[in-house]
Amino acid sequence: MKNISIIGTGYVGLVTGVCLAEIGHNVTCLDLDKKKIELLTLGVSPIYEPGLDELMASNMERGNLHFTSDTMMALRVADVVYIAVGTPQQEDGSANLSYVFKAAQDIGRNITRDVVVVTKSTVPLGTNYKIEEVVKAYLQGNYRVDIVSNPEFLREGSAVHDSFHGDRIVIGADSPAAADLIEEINQPFGLPILKTSISSAEMIKYAANAFLATKISFINEIATLSEKVGSDIVEVAKGIGKDARIGSKFLDAGIGFGGSCFPKDTRALVKISEAVDHDFRLLKSVIEINDRQKTALVKKAKERFGSLKGKRVALLGLAFKPNTDDMREAASISISKRLLEEGAEIIAYDPIAIENAKKVLPPEVQFVEQIEDAIKKADVVFIVTEWEEIVNKALILSSLFMEKPILFDGRNCYTEEEIKQYPVEYIAIGRKPIK
Ligand code: NAD
Repeated sequence: MKNISIIGTGYVGLVTGVCLAEIGHNVTCLDLDKKKIELLTLGVSPIYEPGLDELMASNMERGNLHFTSDTMMALRVADVVYIAVGTPQQEDGSANLSYVFKAAQDIGRNITRDVVVVTKSTVPLGTNYKIEEVVKAYLQGNYRVDIVSNPEFLREGSAVHDSFHGDRIVIGADSPAAADLIEEINQPFGLPILKTSISSAEMIKYAANAFLATKISFINEIATLSEKVGSDIVEVAKGIGKDARIGSKFLDAGIGFGGSCFPKDTRALVKISEAVDHDFRLLKSVIEINDRQKTALVKKAKERFGSLKGKRVALLGLAFKPNTDDMREAASISISKRLLEEGAEIIAYDPIAIENAKKVLPPEVQFVEQIEDAIKKADVVFIVTEWEEIVNKALILSSLFMEKPILFDGRNCYTEEEIKQYPVEYIAIGRKPIK
């Protein structure tokens, strides 16, 4: 049996480690963040991800899932090492690769046998070869190093499910033996496996995210147009989504994409293009449209009220999407800033992400533990993230608790029939307002 070590226990590393343990491998997860490792060794996941805690517990009990912050311990006897550290955006938009190269140095310094290094982190074209150079430069013995690019496609909020039901596993390698080994390791997931060159694998990840981001910005542009000409974006999306060439997924108009991937990966791909003298104008527009879309609700509220000064806004849903506690590039951040600039007060609610939200939202934002408390105090309700609880309760609670119920829906959560059952003024994205 091969010893697998994973560097980085964030959303990707932890889920990867737990799922590889679940399919029978012996996995050691390494993180430099001692607090995370303390929690993990107690069996507590530092992130919210449906289904993760249960799988973690059962595999720790079986004895094939270990956590450590000791780099040497984790890497010394590893046959396969996954790099799953962050590649956050730098100020100029490009990806910060310092964590990846630090991980590569750690691998070089600490391995004591031949190793296959698997890059899960999203990295720009050519980075895998640089990782190989760094690992080799730090080797303490004459060991063979093979590099595999194995980009990750999981979605936060359904990451465990995606690991077992994803559409494909991409394995980019120069060495057929290394590619075969990673294929063998992943075989029990039972997913289609696509073997490619290293640079194709690197490009597949960026191209996939850029394409999905483009779909979102495209439908948001059609939504903006629909508002002007009187069509309804929900009907339009349904109509075009029926075309198998287009597909119905990622056609939900709203206040744009956020999170730890699309914003940074689209900007990184623009920078990757610039570095080879290509002006990726389409992608630049996608990003620009998304930046505008994030604060569309504030614009609509301003048009509706004239001024937002002194208005108390219930911000419902703070995480960048439902079923996660991840606040990276969440629309709630841009919206809060804009609302405060307009002189509004903010009462914020999220079922899971409040603790993380407190770290990134402006200090003026008030937080409440119950959705009822947000709506009771509000003059205006904004649906920012479509958590199931929020969708189930926002409309009815607004009609019950607000003197003049008015709901701005950034995620088009309701049908016209549902809205018409309540005495609520309703303004959404790409649709006619309902009074
Ligand atoms: P994250 O920030 O949640 O986790 C990264 C972890 O790596 C942190 O816990 C950090 O302490 C640890 N770390 C950094 N350097 C280390 C080192 N040298 N040794 C040990 N631990 C180290 O990041 P994430 O969201 O899991 O993303 C990881 C990568 O996967 C990124 O490149 C991202 O673009 C990509 N990705 C993320 C997602 C997603 O949904 N989050 C999906 C696909 C791909």
